[in-house]
Amino acid sequence: MLHHAEVRRRFEEAAGKNAVFENEEMSARTSFRIGGAAALFVTPDSEESAVEVIRIARESGIPYYVMGNGSNLLVADSGFDGAVIQLAKKMSGIRVEGQEIRVQCGALLSRIAAEARNAGLDGFSFASGIPGTFGGACMMNAGAYGGEMKDVLSDVRILDPDGNVRTVFPEEMGLGYRTSAFEKRGDIVLSGTIRLKEGDPEKIGKRMEELAQLRKEKQPLTQPSAGSTFKRPKGYFAGKLISDAGLKGYSIGGAQVSEKHAGFVINTGGATAEDVRNLIAFIRQTVFEKFGVELETEVKFLGFEEM
Ligand SMILES: Cc1cc2nc3c(=O)[nH]c(=O)nc-3n(C[C@H](O)[C@H](O)[C@H](O)COP(=O)(O)OP(=O)(O)OC[C@H]3O[C@@H](n4cnc5c(N)ncnc54)[C@H](O)[C@@H]3O)c2cc1C
Repeated sequence: MLHHAEVRRRFEEAAGKNAVFENEEMSARTSFRIGGAAALFVTPDSEESAVEVIRIARESGIPYYVMGNGSNLLVADSGFDGAVIQLAKKMSGIRVEGQEIRVQCGALLSRIAAEARNAGLDGFSFASGIPGTFGGACMMNAGAYGGEMKDVLSDVRILDPDGNVRTVFPEEMGLGYRTSAFEKRGDIVLSGTIRLKEGDPEKIGKRMEELAQLRKEKQPLTQPSAGSTFKRPKGYFAGKLISDAGLKGYSIGGAQVSEKHAGFVINTGGATAEDVRNLIAFIRQTVFEKFGVELETEVKFLGFEEM
């Protein structure tokens, strides 16, 4: 394994000096506002540079992790002794072409939805309030209010684990409930195409506002979280199970089961990753004891020993 200093130098060559940070606090980079430092943090600004940075990370042997907007991520208090490669703002191009929208992986879903509305393209409103990037959303097959990425993706450009950049089509995406073949194979999403249908910008805008209002009413949007902590178990709702188990408002340290939506674990201020992890374990155990249902986390973990 190469030394961090040497890896840093190579990253700088590939992405530019301004794109490489040392000891970057992940609490500043995640919606949970939790997490220690990443030894190296890189923000490439083009596909070429991203591919090169990932190649360097792979060849150097240091642990690395690709993130988007950090809205589904819990980073350990001890941070991550490797390189976090963030594909976000600097790779967020969006281009409308007829009924298709070409987007780079770092484009925010809210921005894509706004562009779709402006262009009179319907079918992406479901994603307007999901605070993630296109890349993160492909990975998770993000969805809400009856829509999911699966419904709109026509092709995705990836960097595969062998280092090849190629385009994959729906039959190879393996999109299921909050899962994808990208995740299983270890692909990095670089860009993609969304295909929508024509619609009335005013109606689309109204629908987006309705959904935003629903979120505001139902979700603890003013407190840091990573959205729904758990996936929806077959035949149940995680929030209802947690609430029925009497855990609404239950807290460990600064981590709390939201009073507003029991499916969300929130950081009430000063929560550690350990608090969140302990609370998640406690919720899983309690729900299993009471209802025999195993909750699976939707949130991703970085820097922890095996859960
Ligand atoms: C208030 C709130 C509400 C939310 N509501 C919803 C909702 O309604 N529906 C929903 O599905 N989710 C929801 N989420 C969760 C989250 O926003 C989504 O999962 C989103 O898709 C994550 O995108 P991200 O860019 O933030 O990914 P990150 O959190 O940065 O990463 C998530 C995962 O994706 C991987 N990843 C990120 N970018 C790439 C890439 N380019 N290539 C390969 N892998 C990548 C990471 O390695 C990680 O495994 C919510 C979160 C919050 C905080």
